[in-house]
Amino acid sequence: KEAEAVPTESVREEYENLVDLVRKYRFAYYQEDAPLVSDAEFDDLFRRLEEIEALHPELVANDSPTQEVGGEVSAAFKPVEHLQRMYSLEDVFSLDELEAWLAKAEAGIGKLGDGTPAAAWLTELKIDGLAVNLLYRDGKLVRAATRGDGTTGEDITHNVLTIKEIPQQLQGGDFPAEMEIRGEVFIPSKAFAEFNEALIEAGKAPLANPRNAAAGSLRQKDPAETAKRPLKMFVHGIGAREGLQARSQSETYALLKEWGLPVSPYSEVLKSVGEVLDFIKRYGDQRHKLLHEIDGIVIKVDDFATQRALGYTTRVPRWAVAYKYPPEEVHTKLLDILVNV
Ligand code: NAD
Repeated sequence: KEAEAVPTESVREEYENLVDLVRKYRFAYYQEDAPLVSDAEFDDLFRRLEEIEALHPELVANDSPTQEVGGEVSAAFKPVEHLQRMYSLEDVFSLDELEAWLAKAEAGIGKLGDGTPAAAWLTELKIDGLAVNLLYRDGKLVRAATRGDGTTGEDITHNVLTIKEIPQQLQGGDFPAEMEIRGEVFIPSKAFAEFNEALIEAGKAPLANPRNAAAGSLRQKDPAETAKRPLKMFVHGIGAREGLQARSQSETYALLKEWGLPVSPYSEVLKSVGEVLDFIKRYGDQRHKLLHEIDGIVIKVDDFATQRALGYTTRVPRWAVAYKYPPEEVHTKLLDILVNV
């Protein structure tokens, strides 16, 4: 849409109200692990904010929620500077929008000699959990942090050390001297249901949903509490990587797997937009039969040189996009349990 000249007073007012609301909802979601509205409702507000900013760019302040990675750093934890910034993801909410995004990216990336697009797409499930940044020095886990505001996260090393699947020492050799490995910590759907059943039997309040349960579990003051929660992690990215011998993200995943890190079994490297759309359909049909909850699919340019060439905005990489499945009626096993008690 074309930028309009002067925002009217009522647009200004709507904009300022939206900024305040988004800030308030982000605080509840990231700081308190207790959302006040559904994700779909939040996404609608965020979209409206982006729409107004597209029409009236003069309204966009540097600290607009659209220019920042969502989280903050709670005073309850020691702050940790990431070696390389952590980002959010650009969202699209329809297949048409996704196709337009992929077509634009492919046009920018160019074609191979035979006319096929040069981009290979690394397609992954978007796990609904909490992002962590693991710092390994010479193969040894030395620090773990939340994403925070993208530059500074919260030190949750003691809690992460209780997750058995995350190796404290990598196996093999030839590791980069220093490497940041990013992943999503989550509670598997089955373990979540069992954990809640046990809470209900013990007369305690069940946890609201796996995402907030995972986030709340990792941000406990007492690691012994974290240790009681059935947490798992899948790797979905890397930050600092001095000396890493890999040309693409999928090649890196293969290395990380050899070193003993948990890599998602669901990721695939695909060559065409058609294959990406099939992937989305396939996982949309079985999204509740998977190991963990998902809220969409992430599509990434696989090649590191192309990722570098495309770069980042202040909030998101230009080489990746998240397709969000349409919101569905909430009908979980937990609801069945609550209805039946
Ligand atoms: P995001 O969740 O849309 O995307 C970025 C995050 O996705 C990454 O940081 C990473 O943690 C995660 N991720 C999961 N699987 C991944 C994969 N395979 N590859 C890469 N990243 C992967 O962005 P966000 O900034 O973290 O938060 C926005 C989300 O949080 C939205 O879904 C929004 O609805 C929700 N939210 C909800 C409320 C609320 O009040 N309900 C408030 C704030 C945010």
